[in-house]
Amino acid sequence: SENMIDVKNLNTYFNSTQILKNININIKPNTVTALIGPSGCGKSTFLRTLNKMNNLTHTFKMTGEITIDNEPFENIDDVALRKKVGMVFQKANPFPKSIYENIAYGLRIHGMKDEDKINDIVIKTLKDVALYDEIKDDIHRSAYKLSGGQQQRLCIARSIAVSPKIILMDEPCSALDPISTLKIEDLIYELKKDYTIIIVTHNMQQATRVSDNTAFFLNGEIIEIGDTNEIFLHP
Ligand code: ADP
Ligand code: ADP
Repeated sequence: SENMIDVKNLNTYFNSTQILKNININIKPNTVTALIGPSGCGKSTFLRTLNKMNNLTHTFKMTGEITIDNEPFENIDDVALRKKVGMVFQKANPFPKSIYENIAYGLRIHGMKDEDKINDIVIKTLKDVALYDEIKDDIHRSAYKLSGGQQQRLCIARSIAVSPKIILMDEPCSALDPISTLKIEDLIYELKKDYTIIIVTHNMQQATRVSDNTAFFLNGEIIEIGDTNEIFLHP
């Protein structure tokens, strides 16, 4: 199919408690999809299902079909999937290492050894997230020296350095001030040219600013889904 993500009849459980109920969603490449809904309705569970993070919880079970970039979910091993599907969390979580090493680490995990090449990618991704000009040549200082917004952009740089197809963002701006938030929103707009993005947000204005499509979750179900402008202009 032409879709980057196809989800068909997805149900998920922790022990016998059902969380997601018959989720159906198709996501085209180079689009931003916003997930909106009250706390506890299953948005994070949905993201964590897509990158198999829930599989780390032994009580997790799912039924249904997921296809990522035309590959059936069960054929993609966890390491390959996490390379294809990056994730950015609500709270920026850089490693306690230098800015440089935060990005280089993932490249090394995926087998890159040529330090010149690693250096080039580190610089390029720092430029891609508009961080390079802010930190100049200071890429060997601790990531913890950066502001909250800069740390979040570093986490985005870390996720794109390994060339994923999809970036999942779980309330990436909710801990940030308005200026940092706008920088991330601008960045999401740019990233859409190269990646497919799903963003969980509590902020309707943010959904209208950054997303092409919006899905409303309630009690583990998608109760409405469609073009963001149409949904918000003609509710
Ligand atoms: P949201 O992201 O919309 O706030 P979540 O996906 O985090 O919602 O949570 C949906 C429901 O799943 C909640 O009731 C939550 O307590 C439950 N849940 C999430 N993770 C686990 C887990 N590892 N084990 C058991 N229940 C979980
Ligand atoms: P967030 O609010 O950032 O989505 P949560 O506090 O809901 O995170 O969840 C933090 C961790 O606890 C996650 O790994 C989640 O899967 C797990 N979790 C959430 N709810 C439950 C639950 N009811 N039982 C067991 N684990 C849970």
